[in-house]
Amino acid sequence: MTDAVIVGAGIVGAACADALADEGLSVTVVDSGIPGGGTTAGGMGHLTVMDDSEAQFALTRYSVDLWRSMDLPPRAEFLPCGTLWVAADDEEMAEVRRKQAFLSSRVVASEVLDSRALAEAEPNLRRGLAGALFVPCDAILYQPLTTRHLLRRAKFVSGEAIRLRDDGVDLRDGSRLSAAVTVNAAGVGAPKLTAGLDIQPRKGHLLITDRYPGFVRHALVELGYLKNAHASRADSVAFNVQPRVTGQVLIGSSRQLGATSPDIEPRMLGWMLQRAASYLPDAPRLNGIRTWTGLRPCTPDNLPYIGLVPGTRSTYVAAGHEGLGITSATGTAKLIASLATGRKPPIPVEPYALSREMVEHV
Ligand SMILES: Cc1cc2nc3c(=O)[nH]c(=O)nc-3n(C[C@H](O)[C@H](O)[C@H](O)COP(=O)(O)OP(=O)(O)OC[C@H]3O[C@@H](n4cnc5c(N)ncnc54)[C@H](O)[C@@H]3O)c2cc1C
Repeated sequence: MTDAVIVGAGIVGAACADALADEGLSVTVVDSGIPGGGTTAGGMGHLTVMDDSEAQFALTRYSVDLWRSMDLPPRAEFLPCGTLWVAADDEEMAEVRRKQAFLSSRVVASEVLDSRALAEAEPNLRRGLAGALFVPCDAILYQPLTTRHLLRRAKFVSGEAIRLRDDGVDLRDGSRLSAAVTVNAAGVGAPKLTAGLDIQPRKGHLLITDRYPGFVRHALVELGYLKNAHASRADSVAFNVQPRVTGQVLIGSSRQLGATSPDIEPRMLGWMLQRAASYLPDAPRLNGIRTWTGLRPCTPDNLPYIGLVPGTRSTYVAAGHEGLGITSATGTAKLIASLATGRKPPIPVEPYALSREMVEHV
């Protein structure tokens, strides 16, 4: 018997384990795969304050602050490089200014770069871009090993959960992990354990290159990304490139709602790389050494489910973080820990409550 059992050893479950251990609880984490081997392994490690909605801003800002305050080991490869939101034209520069106004009114520092300043900041970007918004608090980390770090105080059990209860988790092999608190952090697998959660996979492709230190210096994201990322149900790609501590360049990304096969699709990969090359003309010269896909756990309103399962006493969900689960794992975990220990949540939790959808415990 432990105090808490968490289903899912992705970054979200691992962060919950860490936060519950901070509260003095003993924690067991159960996963049917390897820790950090689900969507977490398939993602990018961009920690970014986002502003699609007030609720998304609140969670990502709080979470980025938490990441920055943590004492992460070198293997987490934390890189406080900031984000450059790249504007291609005047319309996107208007978005730069809107975003800056939004952030500055909420005391998040940012800086508008004109075309020349952007070229100086990132010499490998194509000439003639309109400018960018620099958000210095954003960062990058290597999420698979960060996940391992966050799990260091938990007991790990290999197994498939088939049912969550207030007093523990039933596993496929017939055994039960008893606990006073249970957490469903099973990512795209969460709806199998909590009926009514509307989480659909949204597939993404990525490619990583050999080492080219300094080729890019910041997390680079096109502002068109915002148009593509959340609004559309159609397949899309966007320029989204990150430097890594190793000197490698991580190139993304694509979005396909409802695609479930992990196969690499040459059409999507080629489209994504063309998009990257349209911003970084020398990108095609880089030696790509590995490509892979991941399934983002996507919800209809782009907000995760964080909270108590209605009708239960101590069964929680922390799932559905779509393309922001690395960023918002830390804030999610603090919310779960405060709910589980009966303390006031550090930020309002209502926007993420399961009760915003009709959910039913199974
Ligand atoms: C291409 C791509 C790029 C991305 N880039 C970023 C980024 O830059 N920044 C960012 O913040 N986010 C990013 N994301 C999103 C981020 O990767 C995800 O939101 C995050 O990894 C979700 O973590 P999770 O712990 O909820 O899920 P997972 O990592 O999938 O973990 C869930 C775990 O639960 C286990 N599981 C499921 N069902 C069961 C069961 N019944 N019994 C036992 N175990 C079970 C699985 O094996 C898995 O290990 C990206 C995602 C993709 C695909």
